[in-house]
Amino acid sequence: VVSARGVVKQFGDHVVLNGVDLNVRHGEVVCVIGPSGSGKTTLLRCLNNLEPVTSGVIEVNGVELGTRTDRSGARTVITSERRRVRDRARARVGMVFQQFNLFENLTVGKNLAAAPIRTQKRDPEEVRRVAGRLLSAVGLAGYGNAYPHQLSGGQQQRVAICRALAAQPSVLLFDEPTSALDPEKVGEVLQIMQELGELGMTMIVSTHEMSFARRCATRVVFMDGGNIVESGTPQQILENPREPRTRQFLRTVL
Ligand code: ATP
Repeated sequence: VVSARGVVKQFGDHVVLNGVDLNVRHGEVVCVIGPSGSGKTTLLRCLNNLEPVTSGVIEVNGVELGTRTDRSGARTVITSERRRVRDRARARVGMVFQQFNLFENLTVGKNLAAAPIRTQKRDPEEVRRVAGRLLSAVGLAGYGNAYPHQLSGGQQQRVAICRALAAQPSVLLFDEPTSALDPEKVGEVLQIMQELGELGMTMIVSTHEMSFARRCATRVVFMDGGNIVESGTPQQILENPREPRTRQFLRTVL
């Protein structure tokens, strides 16, 4: 579903991603772990095209997301048909942020419906029905007319997950989705993520929640210094890491 090849991201001289290769297949739940500053957030933002990559290629469903530049740095011109295909592929990547990032001036219902109706041009009636079903599924039936600030952090993050799902994503990216939550709200969000994984949703999750990674990941990826140091099953990476850097990191968090 998602493929990153040789992805390099620099901010000025600072190399934040140093040639990342990652292939995520349909139905995988990939947990990305690693120290603060290792590049996890930046990788997700590149996968979502929120950050343009410095070099390398990101594909979603076989469609390249980025804009190619030629050697002089000029953007290559693409046809409007290719642009449409690319925009559709970009829209298939859902993202759930650490700080929820809901539209504060829109009701919960409109947060869910905005992109499907305006960007994806789907039937408003159908979108509203789907939105209602999604809210019910996460225990928020009846909250459609509430505004984000009226909800707890855990509820807001559940709305954010519904908003991402309402756009019918091929893959959902989660950037430390529980680290801004009160401890007692963490479980309710992880529970929903676990259920999504069990339903076969393809997910890439940057997290410090090792117990979630152990329980739900089909694969754990350890990043450090802008590189994927090693990746494997939760068992391999969390119980028997090969690389000293992984062992050292796990000693600090487990
Ligand atoms: P954390 O677990 O703390 O969120 P992370 O692994 O997600 O860390 P990133 O947020 O991807 O790490 O940051 C990696 C590095 O990139 C950091 O050194 C950060 O300062 C730098 N960085 C990120 N975004 C920018 C930006 N917009 N401009 C300059 N530097 C940036």
